[in-house]
Amino acid sequence: MIIIQKDRCKACSLCVKNCPTGAVKIIDKLAVVQENCVSCGVCVRVCPFQAIARVAEIAAGSASCRSCPVQCEIKPGFEGACRRYSNINGTLVRNRDLVLESQRARTADRAIPDRPLTTGAGAGTEYPCCRPAPHIVGDTVDGIDVVTVVTEAPLSYSGIKIKIDANQHIGEEGAKIFRDGAVVGMVEPEEYGSKMLYIGGASILSGKNGFAAARTIVELANEERVTLQVEKGSTLELQVGCVPVIDGVAEKKMRVGCGSATVGMFARTMSEAVEEVIVLDHHIIGLLSEHRAGEEVGMRWSGVVPNGRKSTRGRYFGDPGHGWGGTHIEHPLEAVKSVDMAVAQAGMKILVTETTGQKGALLQVQPDGSVAEIPLTAAAKAIVDLIADNCEEARVSAVYVGGTGGSARAGVTTFPIKLSRAVHAGEAKLTIGGAETFILPGGGINFLVDVEQVAPKAFTWVPTPATVAPVEYTMTRNKYAEIGGHVDAIKPLPSLRQGK
Ligand code: SF4
Ligand code: SF4
Repeated sequence: MIIIQKDRCKACSLCVKNCPTGAVKIIDKLAVVQENCVSCGVCVRVCPFQAIARVAEIAAGSASCRSCPVQCEIKPGFEGACRRYSNINGTLVRNRDLVLESQRARTADRAIPDRPLTTGAGAGTEYPCCRPAPHIVGDTVDGIDVVTVVTEAPLSYSGIKIKIDANQHIGEEGAKIFRDGAVVGMVEPEEYGSKMLYIGGASILSGKNGFAAARTIVELANEERVTLQVEKGSTLELQVGCVPVIDGVAEKKMRVGCGSATVGMFARTMSEAVEEVIVLDHHIIGLLSEHRAGEEVGMRWSGVVPNGRKSTRGRYFGDPGHGWGGTHIEHPLEAVKSVDMAVAQAGMKILVTETTGQKGALLQVQPDGSVAEIPLTAAAKAIVDLIADNCEEARVSAVYVGGTGGSARAGVTTFPIKLSRAVHAGEAKLTIGGAETFILPGGGINFLVDVEQVAPKAFTWVPTPATVAPVEYTMTRNKYAEIGGHVDAIKPLPSLRQGK
């Protein structure tokens, strides 16, 4: 249950703005909690005056939701903070039925082969140009006449998304990325523990650093080694398919999950080895005994408070840095903020580790509530090793991002919109250097492609500046005629093989 401490409330309305259920109102210059409050604790965390507290008391008839760590207490007739669950006569019910069928089946043309008849790598460029593309080839595949149209299109709307599977903090999201002093991209939001960069994009390519950006995109896409500098951050040596080198150190492991997920995965083994575990992580630090997974294996809160900002039970936000688990914590003793000796016992062992299992230290609670480091026991080390053994190797990967919805379509068809529609309907397949693409929904032909699947060294750049990608459209001959394709320019595939 949530209570307002009237002498502290300043009626600032922050709780009103942040409450996910609209359960706080300001009445007579005081926050007042309404009946639909689910004790999610959001208001407790946002109140700058500590005027709101969560107490253990639970309102009669409430159902406790265990579907996520928030653990809402939902009164009859009301919904949880996420609006997914309702308390119907004391039972928690999901607010919508399971959708058994996907909404819209793609009308993919199964007659199209998985691969193009030929790739566009090495095809040459005809762009911007309304002449037919350099190669339009036809062949019969499984009894069906198929056409592949290839070109090498200079794409000024292009870039590369780099995924760095490593735990180290490289710099703030939104920070600029420099190559030899020129801005070529920015740091993007992290993707489940992987650092993300975006190099290029139309405005950078058309700006004063366009050449440097185009060259960087192409070198990365062709799996060459590139050194980049993050604004107020790290120096990165990156090569697709290889281990990332951050500030001169080759990263070894990608984290197994956040600190909370790590506790969730290994709670039973942890509980059998030590009285408490703190898994340090720059996103969520996990505290075993307080965590839902700890409770599941019979633990009760140990009295230890980790060094982080509390999120939900056993989950604390970490601050990014160059220390353990990508946090600012440089020494394991700093992982413990305090120990409540009314709950804890002297001699209690606390394992401090990180989500990659690269480091581990054992602490022991002293009679005065401080902690001291002691040698790692075999059982504690086994937990650290278990985490490390479940981590994937650190590596760099990349997707090239481009758009071929512009004049690159002219070499394919006299009705460009029909090509776009055929691609979105799955009746024409776009591949890049022979590799499958993901087409973004909506208008245009915006695609993503895994550069490691593309024919080797297939990307180039032109000083317009733009990057040049091999582009292939494959469809049935009938479809090609239907979309206004240059059918008179179709050559048989064997003639291409013979160099005609
Ligand atoms: S605990 Fe959650 S639902 Fe209740 S008033 Fe605070 S923010 Fe709203
Ligand atoms: S799943 Fe929804 S209703 Fe359940 S605890 Fe989490 S936020 Fe609350």
